[in-house]
Amino acid sequence: MKILVPVKRVVDYNVKVRPKADGTGVDIANVKMSMNPFDEIAVEEAVRMKEAGTATEVVVVTAGPAAAQETLRTALALGADRAVHVECDMELQPLGVAKLLKAVAEKEAPQIIILGKQAIDDDANQTGQMLAALLDWPQATFASKVTVADGKLTVMREIDGGMETLQMSLPAVITTDLRLNEPRYATLPNIMKAKKKPLESMKPEALGADIAPRLSFLSFAEPPKRQAGVKVADVSELLAKLKNEAKVL
Ligand code: AMP
Repeated sequence: MKILVPVKRVVDYNVKVRPKADGTGVDIANVKMSMNPFDEIAVEEAVRMKEAGTATEVVVVTAGPAAAQETLRTALALGADRAVHVECDMELQPLGVAKLLKAVAEKEAPQIIILGKQAIDDDANQTGQMLAALLDWPQATFASKVTVADGKLTVMREIDGGMETLQMSLPAVITTDLRLNEPRYATLPNIMKAKKKPLESMKPEALGADIAPRLSFLSFAEPPKRQAGVKVADVSELLAKLKNEAKVL
């Protein structure tokens, strides 16, 4: 069974991004970029399935500029077998990515596609759902446990006040939630080995997908600054403030 894992290169989660002075975008010049954290979880899950003998091959794919190949190499160092780079310098939106991934899925014919539930840069949370719809495959989003047995996929998801268990036939699309697993770190020997693993590059035109942006961003702004706090002398002053100023008592 082949598993396809789409991974996105995003601003590292430790970086505090700032809007550009004119509000037309976010300033990402010279900031650290990394694999989207939910995609690390997706790679880990696919690699674990291979280690358990459920899967035979893990293929990772990204759509993005030349530098996105670093993210593919990271995924290869984490245990993926092969990588596909759809090289594209223009701005990509979730529908465009989903169309590219559909075309790659049609070429690769995986039984499972595991994506992150959302990319932490745009927080769109759309690509997996759109991809499942375009392929007309069943989908299990926000997975916290995945098992494959007898040609069926069982996925547990955390929902308000409990767990939901879904069962579906393959091929299917899964998106990962935070608690699905704890991704491993790439070891130095595996980083070296990853340099020799196959990485195929292609242009979006070769996949015949219309990736023109459909949304336009009007402006980006920082959230309002928090007001400074005050120190109170004792509990009665605190209660008085909660009652008379905050009016929450
Ligand atoms: P989003 O819908 O943008 O929040 O992204 C959800 C998931 O779609 C990510 O966690 C990735 O698995 C996948 N994805 C988004 N953008 C790309 C991209 N440019 N290349 C490959 N996978 C992507």
